Amino acid sequence: MTTLIDLASNFINGLTSNKLASHKDVFAFNGGVHPFDHKAESTSLPIGKIAIPEKLVLPLRQHVGHLPKVKVAIGDYVLKGQLLAEAEGTVSAAIHAPSSGTISAIDEQIIPHPSGLPDSCITITTDGKDSWGPLHSTDWQNTDKKLLVDSLRSSGIVGLGGATFPTHIKLRTNGKSNVHTLVINAAECEPYITCDDMLMRERADEIIQGIQIVQYLLGADKCLIGIEDNKPEAVSAMTAACLNKNLLVKVVPTLYPSGDARRLIHLLLDVEIPNNKRSTDVGIQVFNVATVLAIYRYFVFGEPSISRIVTVTGNIEKPQNFEVLFGTPLQSLIAAAGEAKQNTSHFIMGGPMMGFDLPNSQVPITKAANCIIASTADLFPAPPPAMPCIRCARCADACPVNLQPQELYWFSKSDNFEKARDYHLFDCIECGCCSYVCPSDIPLVQYYRYAKSEIIASDKAKEAADLARERNEFRLARIEREKLERAQKHAERALAGKTENKIQPENTGMTTDASQRTLTKEASGADVQTTTPATDKQAAIAAAIERAKAAKLAAAQAGMAPKNTENLSVTIESEISKTDAIREKVSMSNTSKLAD
Ligand code: SF4
Ligand code: SF4
Repeated sequence: MTTLIDLASNFINGLTSNKLASHKDVFAFNGGVHPFDHKAESTSLPIGKIAIPEKLVLPLRQHVGHLPKVKVAIGDYVLKGQLLAEAEGTVSAAIHAPSSGTISAIDEQIIPHPSGLPDSCITITTDGKDSWGPLHSTDWQNTDKKLLVDSLRSSGIVGLGGATFPTHIKLRTNGKSNVHTLVINAAECEPYITCDDMLMRERADEIIQGIQIVQYLLGADKCLIGIEDNKPEAVSAMTAACLNKNLLVKVVPTLYPSGDARRLIHLLLDVEIPNNKRSTDVGIQVFNVATVLAIYRYFVFGEPSISRIVTVTGNIEKPQNFEVLFGTPLQSLIAAAGEAKQNTSHFIMGGPMMGFDLPNSQVPITKAANCIIASTADLFPAPPPAMPCIRCARCADACPVNLQPQELYWFSKSDNFEKARDYHLFDCIECGCCSYVCPSDIPLVQYYRYAKSEIIASDKAKEAADLARERNEFRLARIEREKLERAQKHAERALAGKTENKIQPENTGMTTDASQRTLTKEASGADVQTTTPATDKQAAIAAAIERAKAAKLAAAQAGMAPKNTENLSVTIESEISKTDAIREKVSMSNTSKLAD
């Protein structure tokens, strides 16, 4: 029996295959879904501008990587474009003043983040003059590439497609770039979002100049611009701007998530990047269309990253795209779009597939804010209660990363995290295609996020424990080594002191020669026991004979009767035994010293 779900699935798959069939020069990836795009609502008006708000609140956490270091203090007057916080660490991005005014606070405020928690922010009370600080353009064609990339570090430019990865990192080549193809991501596949579409319609020439700068920096010979087929005006504008240039616009089918970098590479080039590799490993680099425009403005006009295009849509009076200064309160943007309609429940930042609910309407617009959707229960009805998994495998069919979402779900639900990791949980891009097609309405992505956060927390805890254990082992080894060194020094000092005492002739009763021999052996570290007894004995006999002769001579000179030979022998024997005793004593003393 054909169910409604089957019909819906066939409809989705039918759309997908028809689209792919009509795009002969692109290459289909597995899975994907085709939700209604809701893009027309916000593209009927040109990009608008909004008044400078009284306050601009700039969170320090607006990008992937380390927080930047604050370079201003409360009370400082800052000009538009002035550096407020400089990039710190390798992966970091600077923050600049979006307008002129006075720093009125550096504190924690609620920021637009899924956690809804406060974080460090710099607040500027604007003066309304919007006065620029000094700007320096760069003759990029005649400047060393390394200098250009280094200077980008202070531009504050990050990936404006939503990833917010610092751009200078993606352009670092260390003089040996192997990137041969630049892919410009203009697919903008998520429903409701139209900021890139409007940018291409209105600023195609500037985008092309930005692409040429990036191509030059990467040394990429080839450039492909991927645009979904639901943006015909943007395709026309970009194609016209590319005329007589070595750039190619490729139209890809409207299929979510074709805007994911790896899926777009697959679509345009039929290259599948292994999950454990980067696209640059195969000579391909991807940049968002808005990011290359920001690079152009930085090098040609010296403008740092202070604003972006934001789509305001959903349950709003006049859905439109606006050029918005970073730090602008969401409420000012909503007001510029004619206010949200009455039954608006909350606001979503990003698209409906990957976006998140904002905690209130006062949060500031940041570098990641590509779209704000005024949400209602009609637009996004609360999901029905999740039903048990029926093992239909629709989620696996829809997964663009070729994962087994149902298995990941089981492992995540049962806290079997290692198994989830084995099933490549971390390759999941959280696109939501599996949840979108699941007939049991299981919020699969939430389970994956939960499992990922648990694994990351456990890995961090393990890392910290390993580090602590290593430190302790190192400490114990150091203590043991120092103990041994101290014992060795004591032994050496004791040995040296006792040897000094033993080698005195008056103490030992030995002749100078014998004492010297003992000293030499001790100093050289040789065991005194190894002294040849026969040699010692001969020396002792010789010394005794000498002493006896001297005694006899002294007695004769004094008129005394000479001692007979027997007496002389007794004297010699007595001298020998005395010397033996002394030698034995010295030997015992040295043995006990070594034992110490
Ligand atoms: S998770 Fe949902 S889509 Fe996947 S197999 Fe289970 S019921 Fe089907
Ligand atoms: S959310 Fe993850 S598991 Fe689900 S379809 Fe996307 S990539 Fe696959």
